[in-house]
Amino acid sequence: VRQAAYQGRMQPGATRDGTHIEVAANVNRAADAQAALDAGAEGVGLMRTEFLFLESDHAPTEAEQEREYRAMAQALGDRTLVIRTLDIGGDKEVPYLGLAHEDNSFLGIRGIRLCFERPDLFLPQLRAIVRVAGDHPNVHVMFPMIATLADLRRAKAMLDDVRAELNVPPIPVGVMIEVPSAALLARELAPEVDFFSVGTNDLTGYTLAMDRLHPLLAAQTDAMHPAVLRLIAVTAEAAQAHGKWVGVCGGAAGEAVGALVLAGLGVRELSVSTPAVATVKAALREYDLAQLQALGREALAQPDAAGVRALAEELLSRTK
Ligand code: PEP
Ligand code: MG
Repeated sequence: VRQAAYQGRMQPGATRDGTHIEVAANVNRAADAQAALDAGAEGVGLMRTEFLFLESDHAPTEAEQEREYRAMAQALGDRTLVIRTLDIGGDKEVPYLGLAHEDNSFLGIRGIRLCFERPDLFLPQLRAIVRVAGDHPNVHVMFPMIATLADLRRAKAMLDDVRAELNVPPIPVGVMIEVPSAALLARELAPEVDFFSVGTNDLTGYTLAMDRLHPLLAAQTDAMHPAVLRLIAVTAEAAQAHGKWVGVCGGAAGEAVGALVLAGLGVRELSVSTPAVATVKAALREYDLAQLQALGREALAQPDAAGVRALAEELLSRTK
């Protein structure tokens, strides 16, 4: 099975009856882009730019960031590149930034909130991204930890100011859906973005109020919980109503069970770790869209994650 999956890795991601489900990779550094393409990735659905900061002993300058983003955009040619702006805070600490200690860092100044507090970090990053986007139309910008419509508008206004300053035309803009309020506001957010990408890692943690890294809660912190899936379904419906696409870049997208359920809920892009690209494509190819949609509907009606997993495993065992 693995061998067959590997051999089919360069085919586009699609269901058996040909609905395109883009299978992209989560790649943080330009140096890793080629490996993702060789593994069959159709693009990069999540570039976690905080890794530039986490893997450095100083805040990368605007020029250093521009070099990295440009190298990534060039490596991808005309394939989609989603550059996510800094998501520092929560579990991602950067010692040299001298950020204040927070008792509850997952609910504090994290992601876009930190960027609003620290324009000295955010504006150079936006300038670096905008310059590269001006030369590479494949570049998309995505904001993390959006919780309200005001967050989105404020981030977009800053991006617009930078674009005006650098004289660069509009860039596709998306938001992470990783806070329950954002999923519940998807109807309001959708008209103001080009795409959504669901961050199932944080969305699961915040929905179930379980720390995503807590060892005693790990078994229960499952993105296949119907409470999480219902938020994803609401997000996908809102996006569809406004003609926008929805991806998933959290870990659930990279599991066969997750990929099938998510595609059944209307997700049309799965951004996964490089080694998972081939297996996710292989799983999708086994089923018609209608089968996955039926799975999605049944999943939403389950009382718990175990019920959802049992349904998906049953489907997986039928064609193998
Ligand atoms: C997520 O929350 O699912 C996500 C993709 O973002 P990160 O894991 O970087 O928080
Ligand atoms: Mg996240």
